Amino acid sequence: FKTKDIAVNALLNSKYSIAKIKNIDMRFDVRSQLEYLDLMPHEITQILGNVIDNAIEAVEGEEEKIIYIKVYEDEIYYHFDVYNKGPNIPEEIRYNIFDYGFSTKQKEGRGVGLYIANSLLSAKGGKIEAVNLDDGVEFRIYVKKTSSC
Ligand code: ADP
Ligand code: MG
Repeated sequence: FKTKDIAVNALLNSKYSIAKIKNIDMRFDVRSQLEYLDLMPHEITQILGNVIDNAIEAVEGEEEKIIYIKVYEDEIYYHFDVYNKGPNIPEEIRYNIFDYGFSTKQKEGRGVGLYIANSLLSAKGGKIEAVNLDDGVEFRIYVKKTSSC
C-alpha cells in the first residue's frame, strides 16, 4: 500500500544523484507518506520529475546552485513545493509556461513538461502554480487526497 511513497522516494533519490554530479545543493523536507494520493505512481513521478528537471536546468548557469523540495499535506491536498534559486519567470510569460510546446530553451522535444504536469493535475482536481520569489522561483504542486472526494 506504500507504492506511491516508494515511487516518489525513488524519484527524489535519482534526481539527488543527478544534482550531486552537477554540483547542485538539493535538499528535501518530506513530511508525508502520501497514503491517499489521488494519482498513480507513474503520474506523480512524471509531474514531479518534470518540475525538478526544470529546476535543475534553471540553476545550471547560476553561481549558487540550490534546490529545495518540500512534501507535506493538509486536510485537502498533498503539497510538493520545488524551489530553485535563480532568475524569475518574466511576468509576460508566467501564464504561458503551461501551454503545449511553450519553451524558452534551445533543445529537442521542448515545451511539454509543464503542459503534461498541468494536464494530469487538472484532470484530478489538483493544480500547479509558478511563484516568483525574491531570489528564485517556486513551483507549487497540489494533489487531492482520495478521501476528500
Ligand atoms: P521545457 O523545459 O522543455 O522548456 P517546460 O514545459 O518544462 O518545457 O517549461 C516551459 C518553460 O517554463 C521553460 O522553457 C521556462 O521558460 C519556464 N520554466 C519552467 N521552470 C522554470 C524555472 N524553474 N525557472 C525559470 N523558468 C522556468
Ligand atoms: Mg522542462
